[in-house]
Amino acid sequence: MKKLVILGGGYGGLALIQELFSGYLPPDVEVILVDRMPYQGLKTEYYALAAGTVSDVSVRVKFPQYEGLRILYGEVTEIDLENKRVLMLNDDPIEYDQLAIALGCTDRYHGVPGAEEYTCSLQSFAAARETYVRLNNLRPYSRVHIIGGGLSGIELAADLRESRPDLNIAILDRGQRVLSSFPNRLSAYIHRWFEDHNVEIHNGVSVSRVEQDAVFNLEEPIETDIAVWTAGIQPVKVVQELDLPKDRSGRILLNEWYQVPSHPEVYVIGDCASLPFVPSAQAAGAQAEQVGNVLKALWRNDTPKVHPLKLKGTLGSLGKHAGFGLMGSTSVIGRVPRILKSGVLWKSKRNY
Ligand SMILES: Cc1cc2nc3c(=O)[nH]c(=O)nc-3n(C[C@H](O)[C@H](O)[C@H](O)COP(=O)(O)OP(=O)(O)OC[C@H]3O[C@@H](n4cnc5c(N)ncnc54)[C@H](O)[C@@H]3O)c2cc1C
Repeated sequence: MKKLVILGGGYGGLALIQELFSGYLPPDVEVILVDRMPYQGLKTEYYALAAGTVSDVSVRVKFPQYEGLRILYGEVTEIDLENKRVLMLNDDPIEYDQLAIALGCTDRYHGVPGAEEYTCSLQSFAAARETYVRLNNLRPYSRVHIIGGGLSGIELAADLRESRPDLNIAILDRGQRVLSSFPNRLSAYIHRWFEDHNVEIHNGVSVSRVEQDAVFNLEEPIETDIAVWTAGIQPVKVVQELDLPKDRSGRILLNEWYQVPSHPEVYVIGDCASLPFVPSAQAAGAQAEQVGNVLKALWRNDTPKVHPLKLKGTLGSLGKHAGFGLMGSTSVIGRVPRILKSGVLWKSKRNY
């Protein structure tokens, strides 16, 4: 039997499995999925888990079951590309003939001292749970600072406002407006929503240091009870440690079939892959589908055909009743994008 090992059962890993098992799978190929968790965590909802507006079980999806799919639970500690094996914490190494790395991302702290030690995170299920506990155990009127006014920082601030009307919540952002890569109209709508809901936005903040009870804007301390980091991401540590060519965001450079050029038996998917998009669940899913097609073509001894990836757009929420979105160059605000976002979530829960 040939072994295809898929590391990570998130958006990318599971879309690959879905693609592989929806068509012909050669009988001599065994697919092994490895994840630390016994279910998929819907990472796009971790802001709501952390805020306390959804429950833990509502953001889990059962792994699929197929004949020919083996699932192993455990912590990947190292990928040994030369000997084609994956090293596990307290478990035997797993050997592979082909490998798909879909382990997602973690926080990037840009060298800011104290950020890793003193800020909460949304980047793993375990971290989002810890953030939930810390945020929701805060005394009334405590001060929360969310560092980074991108999509996840905004969604967290809005849901936290709904969950805890008493807290003093502020977003600290480096740019002149939140979601600075989006059209002005969207940022203006989000600024208004936060103004109406009593969430402060501080623009032009350059976080230089974090301590237990303060975030520093250059030399000026801003007193805080809890700070949450949403100001940058990079591939997980196991991928950071791979000695392979990477882009400026630390994502692995790939050939046109999404293989590592020096190790064509290794594919990289989602947040770990250097794609022409910012990392997203949508990009991970679309790319994984193509990796599935490449693998199937190669197993048939065909030449794979890969089309440029196309994404549908971005949707974000402002609590349960409002949202925003960007489809091509069209921006949408208000209730409709919120309903669309709930629809996307509903669909991803029923995908497998
Ligand atoms: C708060 C928030 C909101 C977001 N909103 C959106 C959105 O609205 N739309 C959108 O498209 N994207 C959104 N994203 C981004 C999206 O979640 C990611 O881009 C997407 O999950 C990437 O998919 P992936 O398969 O690469 O990794 P993931 O989905 O993160 O999957 C990685 C898997 O690997 C496992 N894993 C990691 N390390 C190890 C290890 N060492 N050992 C074993 N298992 C391991 C994890 O348990 C996980 O199951 C959001 C992200 C966040 C944090």
